[in-house]
Amino acid sequence: MKDSKGRIIDYMRISITDRCNLRCRYCMPHGIRREPKQEILSMEEIQALATAAAALGIRRVKVTGGEPLVRRDCCRLVAMLKSVPGIEAVTITTNGVLLEKYLEPLMEAGIDGINVSLDTLDRETYRRITGQDKINEVLKALRAAAALPVPVKINAVSVDFGKMGEPSGGPGERPGWQALVELARDLAVDVRFIEMMPIGFGRQFETMNHKRLLEDIRAAYPGLERDETVHGFGPAKYYKIPGFMGSIGFISAIHGKFCGECNRVRITSKGYLKSCLCYEDGVDLRAVLRDGTEGAYEQAGTEERRCHGRLAGGPDCEEVQRRLKEAIRQAVWQKPAAHCFERPQDITESENMSKIGG
Ligand code: SAM
Ligand code: SF4
Repeated sequence: MKDSKGRIIDYMRISITDRCNLRCRYCMPHGIRREPKQEILSMEEIQALATAAAALGIRRVKVTGGEPLVRRDCCRLVAMLKSVPGIEAVTITTNGVLLEKYLEPLMEAGIDGINVSLDTLDRETYRRITGQDKINEVLKALRAAAALPVPVKINAVSVDFGKMGEPSGGPGERPGWQALVELARDLAVDVRFIEMMPIGFGRQFETMNHKRLLEDIRAAYPGLERDETVHGFGPAKYYKIPGFMGSIGFISAIHGKFCGECNRVRITSKGYLKSCLCYEDGVDLRAVLRDGTEGAYEQAGTEERRCHGRLAGGPDCEEVQRRLKEAIRQAVWQKPAAHCFERPQDITESENMSKIGG
């Protein structure tokens, strides 16, 4: 599917919950109101919208959150998405806290890649960022995942904690990033640094400039060279360090704008299709999915199942799919040309990342 700027849109990120077991300060600090459960898309609704999107050309899906693994049946959803005709790959982004327990079911469901978010290897800094003392659980899961036959990536947001007058150890400082880079020496994982984007609580933090971070990494590892092999579906630029099992990646939305090659749309946990992270533009797919059945969703059991009958196999199924496709096609066509993070006054998105999915 193409947008009006000629970009091919074949990648969809789906936030399957706004709940999370961590409280990252830049994403979902303490005190955030959770959406009532009935506001969040059901598994069947997610599958129905993925079916429509795949019919239009979406080929890869990322399951995200909130924390996707706190949603019961996350692994069943992965299998449901894998069964959608046209979907070639389903991957997941997780904070890793519950990952070890779910590695086997995820593999059985056919997961094609696992991203683990980890901003620091320092236990105290981790606790300070996430509000929880869970780094050992994450590291254990990460090591187990790295031994599996699927690509594993680490995502670390680059915050310049030093500039914020905070104690050292964050990924924006030498000891912080170097320990993360070192993970790729003996583990088959790509370590990717992500510039902090001014969305939600991220606005309160200053991103590290990746041009500077790359120079620092090159100074510490003079053999660093560009890695042109394809690592996934996104905009990361990769580098190799001789002798390292994994590569080092940079996703630099602020200091290396890549909007001209953007291939994605996002679905929030409430079923809103966002065409660009920066703006609230998009379309409410939940309204299409639930048209005329809203009341029933507030009740449990048979009514809900009857609604799901509209989505798969029921008499209205084709009409729902037709309307979903029309809505998706139109929103994708109107996808903005570029983000405006450099002009914060023009950003219209007011949701937090925990609802958008990163
Ligand atoms: N809970 C899962 C996790 O942490 O991977 C999935 C959801 S989380 C919103 C997805 C990704 O978005 C994480 O890697 C997180 O670090 C990143 N993220 C959150 N807020 C961000 C921001 N303002 N700028 C850049 N990345 C952000
Ligand atoms: Fe939770 Fe992920 Fe947001 Fe952290 S970044 S609060 S783990 S959703």
